[in-house]
Amino acid sequence: MKWRAIVAGAIAFILFGSANPDPYPDDYFESPLGIPLYLAGSFAEMRSNHFHGGLDMKTQGHAGYPVYAAADGWVSRVAVSPGGYGNALYLSHQNGYMTVYGHLDRFSENIQLAVKERQYAEERFDVQMFPDRGRFPVLKGELIAYSGNSGGSSGPHLHFEIRDERTGWPMNPLLWGFDVKDTIKPRIYRFKVYALGTTSRIRLRDSRTGGWRIIEAGESAFVELIRYNGSIVMQCVDRIEASGPIGIGVQTHDFHDGSNNLLGQYKIRVLKDDESIFESVLERFAFDQTRFINAHVDYAERSSSGRWVQRGFVLPGNELPMYETKDEGVFTVTPGDVSDIDVQVEDAYGNAAGFSFDVFGTYSEDSSGIDESSEVYRWSHEELFTYRARGFTLRAPAGALYDDIQFHYSELPAFGLKRPVYSALHSVHDRVVPVHKPLSLEISAPDLPEELHDKAVIAQVSSNGSLSWAGGEWNGRSVKTSVRSFGTFVVTVDDDPPEIRPLNISPGKNMASTGEIRIRIRDGFSGIRSYRGTIDGEWVLFEYDAKYQLLRHRFENDLPRGSHMLEMTVTDNKGNTASREIPFTR
Ligand SMILES: [Zn+2]
Repeated sequence: MKWRAIVAGAIAFILFGSANPDPYPDDYFESPLGIPLYLAGSFAEMRSNHFHGGLDMKTQGHAGYPVYAAADGWVSRVAVSPGGYGNALYLSHQNGYMTVYGHLDRFSENIQLAVKERQYAEERFDVQMFPDRGRFPVLKGELIAYSGNSGGSSGPHLHFEIRDERTGWPMNPLLWGFDVKDTIKPRIYRFKVYALGTTSRIRLRDSRTGGWRIIEAGESAFVELIRYNGSIVMQCVDRIEASGPIGIGVQTHDFHDGSNNLLGQYKIRVLKDDESIFESVLERFAFDQTRFINAHVDYAERSSSGRWVQRGFVLPGNELPMYETKDEGVFTVTPGDVSDIDVQVEDAYGNAAGFSFDVFGTYSEDSSGIDESSEVYRWSHEELFTYRARGFTLRAPAGALYDDIQFHYSELPAFGLKRPVYSALHSVHDRVVPVHKPLSLEISAPDLPEELHDKAVIAQVSSNGSLSWAGGEWNGRSVKTSVRSFGTFVVTVDDDPPEIRPLNISPGKNMASTGEIRIRIRDGFSGIRSYRGTIDGEWVLFEYDAKYQLLRHRFENDLPRGSHMLEMTVTDNKGNTASREIPFTR
Protein backbone atom coordinates (compact mmCIF):
# COMPACT_ATOMS: atom_id res chain seq x y z
CA MET A 1 0.00 0.00 0.00
CA LYS A 2 1.22 3.49 -0.82
CA TRP A 3 1.93 5.93 2.03
CA ARG A 4 -0.59 8.39 0.65
CA ALA A 5 -3.31 5.75 0.86
CA ILE A 6 -2.32 4.77 4.39
CA VAL A 7 -2.42 8.40 5.55
CA ALA A 8 -5.72 8.99 3.76
CA GLY A 9 -7.08 5.79 5.30
CA ALA A 10 -5.97 6.86 8.77
CA ILE A 11 -7.59 10.27 8.35
CA ALA A 12 -10.78 8.66 7.04
CA PHE A 13 -10.76 6.34 10.08
CA ILE A 14 -10.38 9.25 12.49
CA LEU A 15 -13.07 11.29 10.74
CA PHE A 16 -15.66 8.60 10.10
CA GLY A 17 -14.73 5.74 12.40
CA SER A 18 -14.43 2.17 11.23
CA ALA A 19 -18.20 1.72 11.03
CA ASN A 20 -18.45 4.09 8.07
CA PRO A 21 -15.66 3.41 5.60
CA ASP A 22 -16.13 4.79 2.09
CA PRO A 23 -18.43 2.16 0.53
CA TYR A 24 -17.07 2.91 -2.95
CA PRO A 25 -13.30 3.45 -2.68
CA ASP A 26 -11.87 5.01 -5.85
CA ASP A 27 -8.82 2.80 -6.09
CA TYR A 28 -10.44 -0.63 -5.78
CA PHE A 29 -11.46 -1.13 -9.43
CA GLU A 30 -9.53 0.04 -12.44
CA SER A 31 -10.69 0.37 -16.03
CA PRO A 32 -10.90 -3.00 -17.82
CA LEU A 33 -9.70 -1.36 -21.05
CA GLY A 34 -6.22 -0.08 -21.85
CA ILE A 35 -7.60 2.75 -23.99
CA PRO A 36 -9.10 6.10 -22.88
CA LEU A 37 -12.51 5.53 -21.37
CA TYR A 38 -15.56 6.86 -23.23
CA LEU A 39 -19.09 5.64 -22.67
CA ALA A 40 -21.70 4.71 -25.25
CA GLY A 41 -24.14 3.70 -22.53
CA SER A 42 -24.55 4.59 -18.86
CA PHE A 43 -25.85 2.71 -15.86
CA ALA A 44 -29.64 2.27 -15.56
CA GLU A 45 -30.14 4.08 -18.83
CA MET A 46 -33.59 3.52 -20.30
CA ARG A 47 -33.85 0.50 -22.60
CA SER A 48 -36.75 -1.51 -23.94
CA ASN A 49 -38.32 -3.38 -20.96
CA HIS A 50 -35.19 -2.98 -18.82
CA PHE A 51 -32.72 -0.62 -17.23
CA HIS A 52 -29.20 -0.97 -18.61
CA GLY A 53 -27.21 -3.03 -16.10
CA GLY A 54 -23.78 -1.47 -16.56
CA LEU A 55 -21.55 0.81 -18.59
CA ASP A 56 -21.05 0.42 -22.33
CA MET A 57 -17.38 1.26 -22.86
CA LYS A 58 -16.44 2.38 -26.35
CA THR A 59 -13.76 0.41 -28.21
CA GLN A 60 -13.07 2.84 -31.08
CA GLY A 61 -15.43 0.97 -33.39
CA HIS A 62 -13.39 -2.25 -33.36
CA ALA A 63 -13.32 -5.63 -31.67
CA GLY A 64 -10.24 -7.32 -30.25
CA TYR A 65 -9.04 -4.87 -27.56
CA PRO A 66 -7.50 -6.59 -24.53
CA VAL A 67 -9.84 -6.70 -21.52
CA TYR A 68 -8.20 -6.66 -18.09
CA ALA A 69 -9.44 -7.76 -14.68
CA ALA A 70 -10.75 -4.65 -12.87
CA ALA A 71 -9.44 -5.99 -9.52
CA ASP A 72 -7.87 -9.09 -7.98
CA GLY A 73 -10.29 -11.98 -7.85
CA TRP A 74 -11.27 -15.17 -9.61
CA VAL A 75 -13.39 -16.24 -12.58
CA SER A 76 -16.66 -17.41 -11.03
CA ARG A 77 -18.80 -17.72 -14.14
CA VAL A 78 -18.32 -17.98 -17.90
CA ALA A 79 -21.29 -17.82 -20.24
CA VAL A 80 -21.63 -18.21 -24.00
CA SER A 81 -24.89 -17.41 -25.74
CA PRO A 82 -26.11 -16.44 -29.23
CA GLY A 83 -27.94 -13.37 -27.83
CA GLY A 84 -27.86 -11.33 -24.63
CA TYR A 85 -24.35 -10.74 -23.29
CA GLY A 86 -22.85 -13.10 -25.91
CA ASN A 87 -19.49 -14.27 -24.58
CA ALA A 88 -19.46 -13.06 -20.99
CA LEU A 89 -17.04 -13.35 -18.10
CA TYR A 90 -17.84 -12.85 -14.40
CA LEU A 91 -15.16 -12.18 -11.79
CA SER A 92 -15.72 -12.38 -8.04
CA HIS A 93 -13.71 -10.07 -5.79
CA GLN A 94 -12.74 -10.10 -2.12
CA ASN A 95 -14.82 -6.98 -1.37
CA GLY A 96 -18.12 -8.76 -2.04
CA TYR A 97 -18.62 -7.33 -5.51
CA MET A 98 -18.55 -9.03 -8.86
CA THR A 99 -17.48 -7.54 -12.20
CA VAL A 100 -19.08 -8.59 -15.48
CA TYR A 101 -17.60 -8.28 -18.98
CA GLY A 102 -20.03 -8.80 -21.87
CA HIS A 103 -20.13 -9.00 -25.70
CA LEU A 104 -16.56 -10.34 -25.68
CA ASP A 105 -14.95 -11.55 -28.89
CA ARG A 106 -13.13 -14.35 -27.04
CA PHE A 107 -11.68 -15.25 -23.66
CA SER A 108 -8.03 -15.52 -22.69
CA GLU A 109 -6.44 -18.74 -23.89
CA ASN A 110 -6.88 -20.99 -20.84
CA ILE A 111 -10.51 -19.95 -20.30
CA GLN A 112 -11.27 -20.33 -24.01
CA LEU A 113 -9.89 -23.88 -23.96
CA ALA A 114 -12.03 -24.83 -20.98
CA VAL A 115 -15.11 -23.39 -22.71
CA LYS A 116 -14.47 -25.33 -25.88
CA GLU A 117 -13.99 -28.52 -23.90
CA ARG A 118 -17.35 -27.92 -22.25
CA GLN A 119 -19.03 -27.17 -25.60
CA TYR A 120 -17.80 -30.47 -27.08
CA ALA A 121 -18.75 -32.38 -23.93
CA GLU A 122 -22.31 -30.97 -23.98
CA GLU A 123 -22.51 -30.84 -27.79
CA ARG A 124 -23.89 -27.32 -27.72
CA PHE A 125 -22.65 -23.80 -28.40
CA ASP A 126 -24.38 -21.98 -25.57
CA VAL A 127 -22.84 -23.15 -22.32
CA GLN A 128 -22.28 -21.83 -18.82
CA MET A 129 -19.52 -22.68 -16.36
CA PHE A 130 -19.16 -21.84 -12.68
CA PRO A 131 -15.47 -22.56 -12.02
CA ASP A 132 -14.20 -23.13 -8.48
CA ARG A 133 -12.45 -20.28 -6.80
CA GLY A 134 -9.05 -21.88 -7.27
CA ARG A 135 -9.37 -22.64 -10.97
CA PHE A 136 -8.88 -19.26 -12.67
CA PRO A 137 -7.52 -16.76 -10.12
CA VAL A 138 -6.77 -13.33 -11.64
CA LEU A 139 -4.79 -10.29 -10.60
CA LYS A 140 -5.89 -6.72 -11.14
CA GLY A 141 -4.84 -5.73 -14.65
CA GLU A 142 -4.42 -9.31 -15.88
CA LEU A 143 -5.59 -10.06 -19.42
CA ILE A 144 -8.85 -12.02 -19.22
CA ALA A 145 -10.49 -11.59 -22.63
CA TYR A 146 -10.74 -9.54 -25.83
CA SER A 147 -13.54 -7.08 -26.50
CA GLY A 148 -16.04 -7.84 -29.21
CA ASN A 149 -19.57 -7.53 -30.51
CA SER A 150 -21.03 -10.92 -29.53
CA GLY A 151 -24.61 -11.51 -28.43
CA GLY A 152 -27.24 -8.78 -28.60
CA SER A 153 -24.79 -5.98 -29.25
CA SER A 154 -25.33 -3.30 -31.86
CA GLY A 155 -21.66 -2.50 -32.43
CA PRO A 156 -18.26 -3.36 -30.92
CA HIS A 157 -17.99 -2.27 -27.27
CA LEU A 158 -17.38 -3.67 -23.81
CA HIS A 159 -20.38 -4.06 -21.52
CA PHE A 160 -19.05 -3.72 -17.96
CA GLU A 161 -20.98 -4.22 -14.73
CA ILE A 162 -20.33 -4.17 -11.02
CA ARG A 163 -22.75 -6.31 -9.02
CA ASP A 164 -23.27 -6.70 -5.31
CA GLU A 165 -22.64 -10.42 -4.93
CA ARG A 166 -24.90 -10.68 -1.88
CA THR A 167 -28.04 -9.43 -3.67
CA GLY A 168 -27.00 -9.91 -7.30
CA TRP A 169 -27.99 -6.30 -7.90
CA PRO A 170 -26.00 -4.26 -10.44
CA MET A 171 -24.59 -1.00 -9.07
CA ASN A 172 -23.64 2.22 -10.82
CA PRO A 173 -19.91 1.64 -11.55
CA LEU A 174 -19.26 5.38 -11.76
CA LEU A 175 -19.65 5.49 -7.95
CA TRP A 176 -16.18 3.89 -7.83
CA GLY A 177 -14.60 6.77 -9.67
CA PHE A 178 -13.66 5.44 -13.09
CA ASP A 179 -11.65 7.78 -15.22
CA VAL A 180 -14.53 9.18 -17.27
CA LYS A 181 -14.52 12.92 -17.84
CA ASP A 182 -17.89 14.55 -17.36
CA THR A 183 -18.13 18.29 -16.85
CA ILE A 184 -21.25 18.66 -18.98
CA LYS A 185 -24.68 19.23 -17.46
CA PRO A 186 -27.57 16.97 -18.41
CA ARG A 187 -29.86 18.43 -21.03
CA ILE A 188 -33.59 18.69 -20.35
CA TYR A 189 -35.60 18.87 -23.56
CA ARG A 190 -39.19 19.15 -22.36
CA PHE A 191 -41.45 18.24 -19.51
CA LYS A 192 -44.90 16.77 -19.32
CA VAL A 193 -47.82 17.65 -17.06
CA TYR A 194 -50.27 14.91 -16.07
CA ALA A 195 -53.86 15.48 -14.91
CA LEU A 196 -53.91 12.45 -12.61
CA GLY A 197 -57.18 12.48 -10.66
CA THR A 198 -60.60 11.73 -12.10
CA THR A 199 -61.52 15.42 -11.75
CA SER A 200 -58.08 16.92 -12.42
CA ARG A 201 -57.67 19.48 -15.13
CA ILE A 202 -54.71 21.48 -16.43
CA ARG A 203 -54.71 24.57 -18.66
CA LEU A 204 -51.66 25.83 -20.56
CA ARG A 205 -51.65 29.40 -21.91
CA ASP A 206 -49.96 29.93 -25.27
CA SER A 207 -47.60 32.89 -24.90
CA ARG A 208 -48.08 33.99 -28.52
CA THR A 209 -51.83 33.72 -28.96
CA GLY A 210 -53.05 33.90 -25.36
CA GLY A 211 -55.21 30.85 -26.09
CA TRP A 212 -55.59 28.02 -23.59
CA ARG A 213 -54.88 24.38 -24.13
CA ILE A 214 -56.99 22.12 -21.89
CA ILE A 215 -55.70 18.82 -20.50
CA GLU A 216 -58.58 16.74 -19.17
CA ALA A 217 -58.50 14.12 -16.41
CA GLY A 218 -56.30 11.15 -17.34
CA GLU A 219 -54.49 13.10 -20.07
CA SER A 220 -51.07 14.69 -20.27
CA ALA A 221 -49.26 17.27 -22.40
CA PHE A 222 -45.73 18.39 -23.20
CA VAL A 223 -44.25 21.78 -22.44
CA GLU A 224 -41.14 22.49 -24.53
CA LEU A 225 -38.07 23.99 -22.87
CA ILE A 226 -35.40 26.29 -24.31
CA ARG A 227 -32.21 27.83 -22.99
CA TYR A 228 -32.57 31.56 -22.53
CA ASN A 229 -29.97 33.86 -20.90
CA GLY A 230 -28.26 30.92 -19.23
CA SER A 231 -31.39 29.38 -17.79
CA ILE A 232 -33.94 26.86 -18.99
CA VAL A 233 -37.38 28.30 -19.58
CA MET A 234 -40.72 27.22 -21.00
CA GLN A 235 -41.23 27.80 -24.68
CA CYS A 236 -44.61 29.04 -25.98
CA VAL A 237 -46.32 28.53 -22.61
CA ASP A 238 -46.45 31.42 -20.13
CA ARG A 239 -48.98 30.23 -17.55
CA ILE A 240 -50.03 26.86 -16.14
CA GLU A 241 -53.30 26.54 -14.25
CA ALA A 242 -54.56 23.36 -12.67
CA SER A 243 -57.02 21.79 -10.28
CA GLY A 244 -56.84 18.43 -8.54
CA PRO A 245 -53.94 15.98 -8.30
CA ILE A 246 -51.23 16.45 -10.93
CA GLY A 247 -47.77 15.11 -11.65
CA ILE A 248 -44.89 15.91 -13.95
CA GLY A 249 -42.37 14.01 -16.08
CA VAL A 250 -39.17 15.01 -17.88
CA GLN A 251 -37.30 14.04 -21.01
CA THR A 252 -33.57 14.37 -20.41
CA HIS A 253 -30.16 13.06 -21.45
CA ASP A 254 -26.69 13.35 -20.02
CA PHE A 255 -23.54 13.96 -22.06
CA HIS A 256 -19.88 13.31 -21.32
CA ASP A 257 -16.82 15.25 -22.46
CA GLY A 258 -15.30 14.14 -25.75
CA SER A 259 -18.28 12.04 -26.87
CA ASN A 260 -21.64 12.80 -28.41
CA ASN A 261 -23.43 9.72 -27.10
CA LEU A 262 -26.76 10.26 -25.38
CA LEU A 263 -26.46 8.94 -21.81
CA GLY A 264 -28.72 8.60 -18.80
CA GLN A 265 -28.90 10.90 -15.79
CA TYR A 266 -28.30 9.86 -12.18
CA LYS A 267 -30.92 11.80 -10.22
CA ILE A 268 -34.19 13.55 -10.91
CA ARG A 269 -35.68 15.68 -8.16
CA VAL A 270 -38.98 17.54 -8.04
CA LEU A 271 -39.53 20.21 -5.39
CA LYS A 272 -42.77 21.95 -4.58
CA ASP A 273 -42.34 25.24 -2.72
CA ASP A 274 -38.76 24.20 -1.85
CA GLU A 275 -39.83 20.87 -0.37
CA SER A 276 -38.66 17.71 -2.16
CA ILE A 277 -41.69 15.66 -3.27
CA PHE A 278 -39.94 13.22 -5.60
CA GLU A 279 -36.43 11.94 -6.08
CA SER A 280 -35.20 9.04 -8.23
CA VAL A 281 -31.60 7.88 -7.79
CA LEU A 282 -30.16 5.36 -10.26
CA GLU A 283 -27.60 3.86 -7.91
CA ARG A 284 -28.71 0.20 -8.11
CA PHE A 285 -31.68 -1.98 -9.06
CA ALA A 286 -32.72 -5.62 -8.91
CA PHE A 287 -32.73 -7.58 -12.16
CA ASP A 288 -36.10 -9.11 -11.29
CA GLN A 289 -37.51 -5.58 -11.03
CA THR A 290 -35.96 -4.19 -14.20
CA ARG A 291 -39.24 -4.45 -16.13
CA PHE A 292 -40.70 -1.82 -13.79
CA ILE A 293 -38.96 0.61 -16.14
CA ASN A 294 -42.30 0.54 -17.97
CA ALA A 295 -43.81 2.20 -14.89
CA HIS A 296 -40.82 4.49 -14.28
CA VAL A 297 -41.26 5.96 -17.75
CA ASP A 298 -44.34 7.08 -19.61
CA TYR A 299 -44.82 3.84 -21.55
CA ALA A 300 -47.61 5.19 -23.74
CA GLU A 301 -45.40 8.09 -24.82
CA ARG A 302 -42.53 5.71 -25.53
CA SER A 303 -44.80 3.38 -27.55
CA SER A 304 -46.31 6.14 -29.65
CA SER A 305 -43.52 8.71 -30.15
CA GLY A 306 -40.37 6.85 -29.08
CA ARG A 307 -39.57 9.51 -26.45
CA TRP A 308 -38.35 8.42 -23.02
CA VAL A 309 -40.20 10.56 -20.48
CA GLN A 310 -39.34 9.73 -16.88
CA ARG A 311 -42.15 10.25 -14.42
CA GLY A 312 -41.67 12.60 -11.47
CA PHE A 313 -44.30 10.57 -9.61
CA VAL A 314 -44.65 6.88 -8.79
CA LEU A 315 -47.44 4.77 -10.29
CA PRO A 316 -49.35 2.68 -7.69
CA GLY A 317 -47.97 -0.68 -8.93
CA ASN A 318 -44.35 0.46 -9.30
CA GLU A 319 -42.21 -1.46 -6.75
CA LEU A 320 -38.80 -0.03 -7.64
CA PRO A 321 -36.88 0.95 -4.50
CA MET A 322 -35.13 3.93 -6.11
CA TYR A 323 -37.55 6.65 -5.05
CA GLU A 324 -37.82 9.04 -2.14
CA THR A 325 -41.18 10.81 -2.30
CA LYS A 326 -43.88 12.73 -0.52
CA ASP A 327 -47.31 11.39 -1.56
CA GLU A 328 -45.63 9.47 -4.41
CA GLY A 329 -44.73 12.77 -6.05
CA VAL A 330 -48.37 13.58 -6.79
CA PHE A 331 -49.48 17.01 -5.59
CA THR A 332 -52.96 18.41 -5.38
CA VAL A 333 -53.62 21.92 -6.62
CA THR A 334 -56.40 23.82 -4.86
CA PRO A 335 -58.07 27.08 -5.91
CA GLY A 336 -56.01 30.17 -5.10
CA ASP A 337 -52.77 28.19 -4.60
CA VAL A 338 -49.61 29.18 -6.36
CA SER A 339 -47.17 26.28 -6.30
CA ASP A 340 -43.55 26.82 -7.23
CA ILE A 341 -42.32 23.65 -8.94
CA ASP A 342 -38.61 23.11 -9.29
CA VAL A 343 -37.15 20.23 -11.31
CA GLN A 344 -33.48 19.25 -11.02
CA VAL A 345 -31.58 16.67 -13.06
CA GLU A 346 -28.11 15.56 -12.00
CA ASP A 347 -25.50 13.23 -13.50
CA ALA A 348 -23.23 10.87 -11.55
CA TYR A 349 -20.55 13.59 -11.35
CA GLY A 350 -22.84 16.16 -9.78
CA ASN A 351 -23.34 18.29 -12.89
CA ALA A 352 -26.88 19.59 -12.58
CA ALA A 353 -29.49 21.32 -14.70
CA GLY A 354 -32.92 22.50 -13.67
CA PHE A 355 -35.92 24.64 -14.39
CA SER A 356 -38.88 25.93 -12.47
CA PHE A 357 -42.41 27.09 -13.12
CA ASP A 358 -45.52 28.10 -11.21
CA VAL A 359 -48.82 26.27 -11.14
CA PHE A 360 -51.85 28.44 -10.38
CA GLY A 361 -54.77 26.70 -8.68
CA THR A 362 -58.19 27.20 -10.24
CA TYR A 363 -61.71 25.93 -9.63
CA SER A 364 -62.45 22.82 -11.58
CA GLU A 365 -65.44 23.01 -13.82
CA ASP A 366 -67.64 19.96 -13.50
CA SER A 367 -66.07 17.37 -15.70
CA SER A 368 -68.27 14.77 -17.27
CA GLY A 369 -66.42 11.96 -15.49
CA ILE A 370 -65.63 8.57 -16.96
CA ASP A 371 -68.13 7.36 -19.50
CA GLU A 372 -69.70 4.05 -18.55
CA SER A 373 -69.96 2.27 -21.87
CA SER A 374 -71.22 -1.30 -21.67
CA GLU A 375 -68.05 -3.17 -22.72
CA VAL A 376 -65.88 -1.50 -20.09
CA TYR A 377 -64.71 -3.43 -17.03
CA ARG A 378 -62.83 -2.07 -14.07
CA TRP A 379 -59.48 -3.89 -13.57
CA SER A 380 -57.78 -3.21 -10.26
CA HIS A 381 -54.00 -3.57 -10.53
CA GLU A 382 -53.87 -5.17 -7.06
CA GLU A 383 -56.27 -7.99 -7.91
CA LEU A 384 -56.36 -10.88 -10.29
CA PHE A 385 -58.58 -10.37 -13.29
CA THR A 386 -60.48 -12.69 -15.59
CA TYR A 387 -62.40 -11.76 -18.70
CA ARG A 388 -64.44 -14.12 -20.85
CA ALA A 389 -66.08 -13.48 -24.20
CA ARG A 390 -67.21 -15.75 -27.01
CA GLY A 391 -64.16 -17.78 -28.03
CA PHE A 392 -61.83 -15.76 -25.83
CA THR A 393 -60.53 -15.91 -22.25
CA LEU A 394 -57.99 -13.67 -20.53
CA ARG A 395 -56.58 -14.39 -17.07
CA ALA A 396 -54.19 -12.08 -15.26
CA PRO A 397 -52.46 -12.41 -11.89
CA ALA A 398 -52.53 -9.61 -9.33
CA GLY A 399 -49.88 -7.03 -10.09
CA ALA A 400 -50.03 -7.51 -13.85
CA LEU A 401 -50.62 -3.77 -14.26
CA TYR A 402 -49.14 -0.65 -12.66
CA ASP A 403 -52.45 1.14 -12.28
CA ASP A 404 -56.18 0.49 -12.45
CA ILE A 405 -57.76 0.59 -15.88
CA GLN A 406 -61.18 0.45 -17.48
CA PHE A 407 -60.58 -2.69 -19.51
CA HIS A 408 -62.01 -2.87 -23.00
CA TYR A 409 -62.23 -5.71 -25.44
CA SER A 410 -63.79 -6.28 -28.83
CA GLU A 411 -64.01 -9.00 -31.44
CA LEU A 412 -63.23 -7.91 -34.98
CA PRO A 413 -63.58 -9.69 -38.30
CA ALA A 414 -60.25 -10.98 -39.62
CA PHE A 415 -59.38 -9.67 -43.06
CA GLY A 416 -56.48 -7.95 -44.82
CA LEU A 417 -53.93 -10.02 -42.89
CA LYS A 418 -50.60 -11.23 -44.23
CA ARG A 419 -51.04 -14.88 -43.14
CA PRO A 420 -53.92 -17.37 -43.11
CA VAL A 421 -55.76 -17.17 -39.79
CA TYR A 422 -58.19 -19.49 -38.01
CA SER A 423 -60.07 -17.28 -35.55
CA ALA A 424 -61.63 -13.88 -35.22
CA LEU A 425 -59.38 -10.97 -34.25
CA HIS A 426 -59.45 -10.26 -30.54
CA SER A 427 -58.68 -6.68 -29.66
CA VAL A 428 -57.48 -6.71 -26.06
CA HIS A 429 -57.36 -3.28 -24.43
CA ASP A 430 -54.67 -0.89 -25.70
CA ARG A 431 -51.08 -1.70 -26.70
CA VAL A 432 -49.74 1.54 -25.17
CA VAL A 433 -50.74 0.41 -21.65
CA PRO A 434 -47.80 -1.50 -20.10
CA VAL A 435 -48.21 -5.07 -18.84
CA HIS A 436 -45.87 -6.26 -16.08
CA LYS A 437 -46.71 -9.94 -15.57
CA PRO A 438 -47.68 -12.48 -18.23
CA LEU A 439 -51.36 -12.58 -19.19
CA SER A 440 -52.83 -15.92 -20.15
CA LEU A 441 -54.81 -15.80 -23.42
CA GLU A 442 -57.02 -18.56 -24.76
CA ILE A 443 -58.53 -18.21 -28.23
CA SER A 444 -60.81 -20.81 -29.78
CA ALA A 445 -60.26 -21.67 -33.41
CA PRO A 446 -63.34 -23.44 -34.79
CA ASP A 447 -62.03 -23.31 -38.38
CA LEU A 448 -58.69 -24.88 -37.56
CA PRO A 449 -58.33 -28.27 -39.36
CA GLU A 450 -57.42 -31.09 -37.02
CA GLU A 451 -54.14 -31.88 -38.80
CA LEU A 452 -52.94 -28.34 -37.99
CA HIS A 453 -53.71 -28.48 -34.26
CA ASP A 454 -50.09 -29.04 -33.29
CA LYS A 455 -48.93 -26.20 -35.57
CA ALA A 456 -51.39 -23.65 -34.16
CA VAL A 457 -50.04 -20.52 -32.51
CA ILE A 458 -51.29 -17.13 -31.41
CA ALA A 459 -50.03 -14.11 -33.32
CA GLN A 460 -50.09 -10.44 -32.43
CA VAL A 461 -51.41 -8.27 -35.25
CA SER A 462 -49.73 -4.94 -35.97
CA SER A 463 -51.58 -1.97 -37.41
CA ASN A 464 -50.32 -2.74 -40.94
CA GLY A 465 -51.77 -6.27 -40.82
CA SER A 466 -48.50 -8.12 -40.29
CA LEU A 467 -48.44 -10.91 -37.71
CA SER A 468 -45.78 -11.67 -35.14
CA TRP A 469 -45.30 -14.80 -33.07
CA ALA A 470 -46.84 -14.76 -29.59
CA GLY A 471 -46.30 -18.46 -28.84
CA GLY A 472 -48.97 -20.96 -27.93
CA GLU A 473 -50.16 -24.54 -27.98
CA TRP A 474 -53.41 -26.30 -28.84
CA ASN A 475 -54.89 -27.47 -25.53
CA GLY A 476 -57.71 -29.63 -26.86
CA ARG A 477 -60.29 -26.81 -27.15
CA SER A 478 -58.41 -23.71 -28.10
CA VAL A 479 -54.96 -22.20 -28.48
CA LYS A 480 -53.38 -20.93 -25.30
CA THR A 481 -50.37 -18.70 -24.71
CA SER A 482 -49.11 -16.02 -22.38
CA VAL A 483 -48.27 -12.50 -23.51
CA ARG A 484 -46.76 -9.42 -21.90
CA SER A 485 -48.53 -6.76 -23.86
CA PHE A 486 -52.01 -5.73 -24.86
CA GLY A 487 -52.94 -5.63 -28.53
CA THR A 488 -54.83 -7.56 -31.17
CA PHE A 489 -54.45 -11.34 -31.28
CA VAL A 490 -55.47 -14.11 -33.68
CA VAL A 491 -54.84 -17.84 -34.24
CA THR A 492 -52.55 -18.77 -37.11
CA VAL A 493 -50.32 -21.76 -37.89
CA ASP A 494 -46.59 -22.16 -38.37
CA ASP A 495 -45.81 -25.21 -40.47
CA ASP A 496 -42.89 -23.69 -42.42
CA PRO A 497 -39.44 -25.14 -41.72
CA PRO A 498 -36.49 -22.80 -41.14
CA GLU A 499 -34.26 -21.83 -44.03
CA ILE A 500 -30.65 -23.06 -44.24
CA ARG A 501 -28.49 -21.03 -46.63
CA PRO A 502 -24.83 -22.07 -46.98
CA LEU A 503 -22.73 -18.93 -47.57
CA ASN A 504 -19.32 -20.29 -48.51
CA ILE A 505 -19.85 -24.01 -48.98
CA SER A 506 -21.59 -25.98 -51.76
CA PRO A 507 -21.78 -29.65 -52.69
CA GLY A 508 -18.39 -31.01 -53.76
CA LYS A 509 -16.49 -27.80 -52.96
CA ASN A 510 -12.82 -27.95 -51.98
CA MET A 511 -12.63 -26.03 -48.68
CA ALA A 512 -8.82 -26.28 -48.36
CA SER A 513 -8.27 -22.56 -48.83
CA THR A 514 -10.72 -21.41 -46.16
CA GLY A 515 -10.58 -21.72 -42.40
CA GLU A 516 -14.30 -21.87 -41.71
CA ILE A 517 -17.81 -22.81 -42.82
CA ARG A 518 -20.44 -20.08 -42.77
CA ILE A 519 -24.17 -20.79 -42.98
CA ARG A 520 -27.11 -18.43 -42.63
CA ILE A 521 -30.19 -19.77 -40.83
CA ARG A 522 -33.54 -18.03 -40.61
CA ASP A 523 -37.06 -18.79 -39.62
CA GLY A 524 -40.01 -16.94 -41.06
CA PHE A 525 -42.27 -16.94 -38.00
CA SER A 526 -41.72 -18.71 -34.69
CA GLY A 527 -37.93 -18.34 -34.66
CA ILE A 528 -34.97 -20.71 -34.35
CA ARG A 529 -35.09 -23.05 -31.35
CA SER A 530 -32.06 -25.26 -31.98
CA TYR A 531 -29.55 -26.39 -34.56
CA ARG A 532 -27.06 -29.21 -34.85
CA GLY A 533 -24.08 -29.46 -37.18
CA THR A 534 -21.97 -32.58 -37.75
CA ILE A 535 -19.04 -33.46 -39.97
CA ASP A 536 -18.82 -37.14 -40.91
CA GLY A 537 -21.41 -37.85 -38.23
CA GLU A 538 -19.46 -36.21 -35.39
CA TRP A 539 -20.86 -33.13 -33.63
CA VAL A 540 -18.83 -30.00 -34.38
CA LEU A 541 -18.98 -26.55 -32.84
CA PHE A 542 -20.93 -24.00 -34.88
CA GLU A 543 -20.84 -20.61 -33.19
CA TYR A 544 -24.19 -18.87 -33.54
CA ASP A 545 -24.65 -15.12 -33.77
CA ALA A 546 -28.41 -14.62 -33.61
CA LYS A 547 -28.36 -10.97 -34.70
CA TYR A 548 -26.62 -11.85 -37.97
CA GLN A 549 -28.50 -15.20 -38.25
CA LEU A 550 -25.05 -16.63 -38.78
CA LEU A 551 -23.51 -20.03 -37.97
CA ARG A 552 -19.75 -20.38 -38.14
CA HIS A 553 -17.56 -23.47 -37.79
CA ARG A 554 -13.79 -22.99 -37.61
CA PHE A 555 -12.01 -26.06 -38.99
CA GLU A 556 -10.07 -28.05 -36.43
CA ASN A 557 -6.56 -29.31 -37.16
CA ASP A 558 -7.65 -32.89 -36.56
CA LEU A 559 -9.93 -33.08 -39.62
CA PRO A 560 -8.20 -35.66 -41.89
CA ARG A 561 -7.52 -34.76 -45.54
CA GLY A 562 -10.10 -36.03 -48.00
CA SER A 563 -13.83 -35.94 -48.57
CA HIS A 564 -16.30 -35.17 -45.81
CA MET A 565 -19.99 -34.81 -45.22
CA LEU A 566 -21.45 -31.77 -43.48
CA GLU A 567 -24.93 -32.18 -42.06
CA MET A 568 -26.95 -29.32 -40.61
CA THR A 569 -30.34 -29.63 -38.94
CA VAL A 570 -32.32 -26.60 -37.75
CA THR A 571 -35.57 -26.65 -35.77
CA ASP A 572 -37.93 -23.73 -35.12
CA ASN A 573 -40.01 -23.02 -32.03
CA LYS A 574 -43.01 -24.87 -33.47
CA GLY A 575 -40.98 -28.05 -34.11
CA ASN A 576 -40.60 -27.58 -37.87
CA THR A 577 -37.25 -28.97 -39.00
CA ALA A 578 -34.97 -28.42 -42.00
CA SER A 579 -31.89 -30.46 -42.89
CA ARG A 580 -29.07 -30.09 -45.41
CA GLU A 581 -26.29 -32.52 -46.33
CA ILE A 582 -23.32 -31.02 -48.12
CA PRO A 583 -20.36 -33.18 -49.22
CA PHE A 584 -17.06 -31.28 -49.40
CA THR A 585 -13.32 -31.96 -49.49
CA ARG A 586 -10.49 -30.47 -47.46
ZN1 LIG B 1 -24.40 -2.73 -22.26
